Amino acid sequence: MSSDPLPIAEARRVATEHAGSRLGTETVTIAAALDRVLAADVIAATEVPRFPSSAMDGFAVRDLSSGAVLAVVGEARAGHPYEGGLERDQAIRISTGAIVPAAAEAVVRQEDVTASDGRIETHVASRPNANVRAPGEDMHAGHVILTAGIRLGATELGAAVAAGAGELTVARPPAVTILCTGDELRAPGEPLSAGQIHNSNALMLHALVTHAGGAVIGPVALLPDDLEATEAALADALQRSDVVMLSGGVSVGPHDHVKPALRALGVTEHFWGVAMKPGKPVWFGSLGRKLVFGLPGNPVSVAVTFSLFARPAVDALLGALPQHAPIAEARLGVAVNRDPARDQAIRVSLEMRDGVPVVLPAGAQDSHLFSSLLRADCLAIVERGEGQLEPGETVPLAPLPL
Ligand code: AMP
Ligand code: MG
Repeated sequence: MSSDPLPIAEARRVATEHAGSRLGTETVTIAAALDRVLAADVIAATEVPRFPSSAMDGFAVRDLSSGAVLAVVGEARAGHPYEGGLERDQAIRISTGAIVPAAAEAVVRQEDVTASDGRIETHVASRPNANVRAPGEDMHAGHVILTAGIRLGATELGAAVAAGAGELTVARPPAVTILCTGDELRAPGEPLSAGQIHNSNALMLHALVTHAGGAVIGPVALLPDDLEATEAALADALQRSDVVMLSGGVSVGPHDHVKPALRALGVTEHFWGVAMKPGKPVWFGSLGRKLVFGLPGNPVSVAVTFSLFARPAVDALLGALPQHAPIAEARLGVAVNRDPARDQAIRVSLEMRDGVPVVLPAGAQDSHLFSSLLRADCLAIVERGEGQLEPGETVPLAPLPL
């Protein structure tokens, strides 16, 4: 298939459409669920709190008046209920989180009484149920607490435990093989000979895929610029992966072997070339349900094309809600020339000016410059066209998952 390069939005649609829906689910103990994508709603098993509990350290009382003198006849501690009775002239010492005895009308804070000789005197009048946490105030039994598609962070795991969950149904992570092509590449920290560079993409892609929720298979392979080696590595990768992610070698040079190798292996091309800057030579295809992304070699292009095309596809394979930029759109802080032929994904920093979100290019935009990627908060998408966008015009933002 060789046609005009697609706009960014169309290429993303093609990639997510071919990714389709969630690959599968598995059940894991909640302790192993951090950073996984939830695949079934979490329902509260009980009312939370389950019982009326004290919000304060103090005394459970029946007499709500100020100046009441009450005999302290027992104690309710967290995890140790008080089993006895409570008369109007009595009080129970109570700890935060302890069950409030059924006969009590309120809890008076320790600071609001004076205590001596087994008695207290209250110094405040209490409202009924003062300092008592009501059952179900946080969660109701049978109600959805977490919806499928969210990523499980610290808060979500804590809330799921409170809701009674011991196991969670999560998405099966897509198995991802990452292949970096290029004779010039050397491992991080290795000494370099003339013309060699360090392999930035391997570690970056590993992190991007892992962050996205994919399971990277094995160490990232480094491929020479050689057709046979590329084809052999790709054949193997296709065997064992749901997604194959390549960097470099996908352009039109005589030593770019990724496309011919994929063609020889019968991988169907869905697009090659997106009308965008940076990242134009990005390639996407599939073999059955397996997806192949041929990302460009330049690290910034890798980050940008991963964010715009691969990440949404991985999200779809996980049934994950799509990732968003911090806000959907912002005003341009400076004029930006449109490109007549290509959409631009501009690395921008985001700031508030008079309460309005404004984006500014985070430095020069060439695709080999890490420096502006490091300063960027997100991408601003400027669609292709004539003329320029003026300062103050609104542009949509896309996330940079770095
Ligand atoms: P290519 O698409 O293979 O022509 O690569 C385009 C540019 O990206 C060249 O300058 C490559 O040296 C550079 N490049 C390719 N792969 C990597 C990598 N893994 N890490 C850093 N730079 C790379
Ligand atoms: Mg290359």
